[in-house]
Amino acid sequence: MSTQYQYPKLQMLINGKWRDTKDHEPVLNPAEETVIGQLPMATRQDLDDALEAAQAGFRAWRATSPAKRAEILLNGARLVRERVDEHAYAITLEQGKPLAQSKSEILRGCEIIEWDATEGRRVYGRIIPSEPGMRHTVLRQPVGIVAAFSPWNFPMSSPARKIAGALSAGCSIIIKASEETPAGAMLLAKALTDGGLPPGALNLIFGNPAEISDYLIPKPQVRLITFTGSIPVGKRLTTLAGQHMKPVIMELGGHAPVLVCEDADPVAAGTTCAIGKSRNSGQVCTAPTRFFVHDKIYREFSDAIARKANAIKEGNGLDPASDMGPLANRRRLEAMEMFVEDAAAKGAKILAGGRRIGDRGYHFPLTVLGDIPIEARAMSEEPFGPLALVHRVRSLDEAIEKANSLPFGLAGYAFTRSAATAHRLSEEVEVGNLGINHFVASVAETPFGGVKESGFGREGGTEGLECYTVTKNVSHLIE
Ligand code: NAD
Repeated sequence: MSTQYQYPKLQMLINGKWRDTKDHEPVLNPAEETVIGQLPMATRQDLDDALEAAQAGFRAWRATSPAKRAEILLNGARLVRERVDEHAYAITLEQGKPLAQSKSEILRGCEIIEWDATEGRRVYGRIIPSEPGMRHTVLRQPVGIVAAFSPWNFPMSSPARKIAGALSAGCSIIIKASEETPAGAMLLAKALTDGGLPPGALNLIFGNPAEISDYLIPKPQVRLITFTGSIPVGKRLTTLAGQHMKPVIMELGGHAPVLVCEDADPVAAGTTCAIGKSRNSGQVCTAPTRFFVHDKIYREFSDAIARKANAIKEGNGLDPASDMGPLANRRRLEAMEMFVEDAAAKGAKILAGGRRIGDRGYHFPLTVLGDIPIEARAMSEEPFGPLALVHRVRSLDEAIEKANSLPFGLAGYAFTRSAATAHRLSEEVEVGNLGINHFVASVAETPFGGVKESGFGREGGTEGLECYTVTKNVSHLIE
């Protein structure tokens, strides 16, 4: 499979036309640190053209019937499914994850598009009964042009969430996809235009993220900002949006706690936790990270997670033998080395992994740090990498208190067979998404998003689509 495809030539999509520019930045393959493509860097003129296209695109797209909009989006998703091997190859090359994970990311992205597309036909309003002659009608209308910013960890499914949400609600969108993993979004945009998406409804740009967000967010034509990325950048964009009174959807960092309760099967939970941690090399905002394990089963659990972690093979994502790919960039590699060194100096035991593999490519193994003290930096700063931090607790109260002790609140998980414990955790763990006995934080039809500094607004489910609409009440006195 890997030799049959090539990394695509990178271009931007503005007003239905593919466009290159004069200035470029190299795109690297994280497995080998080789240059695989040249990223076009948008100029001011490109941004102005995208704004103009999105305005005309919005007028045409909102006037397109919801049924037709759904048909076009479903066409696009079908084309992505047909091209999944080609798209997966490009994503593995630019992001590093194993081909099987690239493929499942793409199929998940298709499910999101398909669900949003059909749900877009059900963005219903309400009629409110009133006195004779008066009718109050609540309309839900598309908010307008959306400016979207998607990250490097999910090159296809993250743009898919934003594009599908906006287009299903009848908005047009300008998306600046990741400069480090641009092909995932570009191939998706190509499939959607091949599926019949009219010019201007979707515009894809690349370039310097700060310059683009600083330019687009204040523009009066832009009515909603959606961003997935780090908390500091999220705060910066929210502040800028606030100065112009614009709503935002912010999907930011997390530091997911995993409460392994005393009644859980420690060996099964340990094995499942190692696999969950290895997904996308831990570079997931919902990645299980702080494992609070009850004293009674601590030993068996930590042996099991370390055993499984040692068996998970890290390597080039194009090699079918690799269970886990390299880190996506040098920043993550340096962060892992710093977190491990700091934790070990503070008394953590390295039960698996812990050191970079080789000296070419950003290869770092699945690492388990046992008996990690709360004071270790990784316990309060988001590692965003393959570190499992195992910490002993003596009661459920202690586990819940420690789980809730950080300013993050995106995903959380628990392993328990007790309905009473599960009920208490559902009530008390401060997160937007809680997974009990598994690690799937959300699916296409469920809302996904955070509390506290992990952000606000939701993607997915009916709650996600609602974020792309505004509510208008029409009071009509019939004469
Ligand atoms: P970063 O803060 O430099 O960048 C994060 C993302 O934000 C990138 O995709 C980048 O293109 C974009 N970005 C940066 N500055 C921007 C700006 N001014 N305007 C618009 N977009 C901007 O961090 P990083 O080194 O790329 O990633 C590390 C951290 O980012 C992680 O610790 C994690 O918290 C966070 N992150 C989160 C997610 C997520 O899914 N929520 C995804 C990727 C990264």
